[in-house]
Amino acid sequence: SAGDGAFDPAAHGPHEVTGPATDIAPAHVGYAAYRAAGGYALAAEVVNGERDAEAVLSALSDAGLRGLGGAGFPAGRKWRIVRGFPGPRLMAVNIDEGEPGTFKDRTYLERDPHRFLEGVLVAAQVVGCEAAYLYLRDEYHGARAVLEHALAELQADPPCALPRLVLRRGAGAYICGEESAMIESLEGKRGEPRLRPPYIAEVGLFGRPTLEHNFETLYWVRDIVQRGAAWFSGFGRHGRTGLRSYSVSGRVKRPGVKLAPAGITLRELVDEFCGGLLDGHTLYGYLPGGASGGLLPAALADVPLDFDTLQPHGCFIGSAAVVVLSQHDTAREAALNAMRFFAEESCGQCTPCRVGTEKAAVLMARADWDHATLEDLATVMADASICGLGQAAPNPIRCVQRHFPQEVGL
Ligand code: SF4
Repeated sequence: SAGDGAFDPAAHGPHEVTGPATDIAPAHVGYAAYRAAGGYALAAEVVNGERDAEAVLSALSDAGLRGLGGAGFPAGRKWRIVRGFPGPRLMAVNIDEGEPGTFKDRTYLERDPHRFLEGVLVAAQVVGCEAAYLYLRDEYHGARAVLEHALAELQADPPCALPRLVLRRGAGAYICGEESAMIESLEGKRGEPRLRPPYIAEVGLFGRPTLEHNFETLYWVRDIVQRGAAWFSGFGRHGRTGLRSYSVSGRVKRPGVKLAPAGITLRELVDEFCGGLLDGHTLYGYLPGGASGGLLPAALADVPLDFDTLQPHGCFIGSAAVVVLSQHDTAREAALNAMRFFAEESCGQCTPCRVGTEKAAVLMARADWDHATLEDLATVMADASICGLGQAAPNPIRCVQRHFPQEVGL
């Protein structure tokens, strides 16, 4: 990795970025190049009061920007909620990117770190956060070198007054991608999700009102505000609006981060952005949202991929980690893999998840599935788990039963 702060793009990011927005950086953009192309002008305008906070908030809302870490909460509304609580306020940025199959944040961070940092500055000013804590996945050695270097460049020659910017390393726990567990971890405690209410927006990091965001949500702020909401919302297919960064892996010719219109279907995504399936492979199914988003069969390859569109099929888009399966794969193997992952990564705080995921993984490894017991486990995990990990853990079971019944004797 680039331990001295120098960044060698050839050593990182095997994933290409393709998409309809032509300005996605093809290679690393340093501070001088970013500023020369108009970078940080927006942040300076906002910080110096030359651009109205209300206009920024309206742009985000009109663009329909939603949290791109998986939850999909409208960004503009979140900013308004947090700034409505009395200060001091803080910001916590999730760059943990632990969802299996997701690599969009790393890809963007390694190429264009200042576009993200400008989003942080704008958000901190508009919401009134006096410090921003950046929580980075510890396995991302190259990305850390890039981010440390970018922060040093920014602080050495600031375009405007800066909030306190603190880079913190995670410790390899999937659960620390859950917002309240991340905040516990930032506070130096075990990464265990909190019971809510109170919500992070009101009582978050160090007990302060906290704006919590995924990396990519902040990455788009500059473009949306400068180009206008209509630019972002002008993309979209099948009745959906906006852009989504799909991390595509599996049996396709060209895996990578695909910046594509929201609502694109799996079939369109594979054919238009990934060069089709690998030779000798036919589509069997896919995971639309990493390990937690469930599995869908080839027969549902024409469903728009976006927030809210997959619920009728028992799935969700999450962080848009699309894993493509062919006739050389089975859904039950993919589901078992996901369940073992959940069992490994459960924080153990609540019994339905801690015991349920372990038991389910044992049952799913057997040749014949005990459907009655699996259904009992799925119900108690979904109904009685504290956080999204346990609540989503039944998805692989239920999706195999529903969409691939022939594999499990139904
Ligand atoms: Fe921890 Fe699982 Fe409970 Fe979430 S659902 S708090 S990961 S034990």
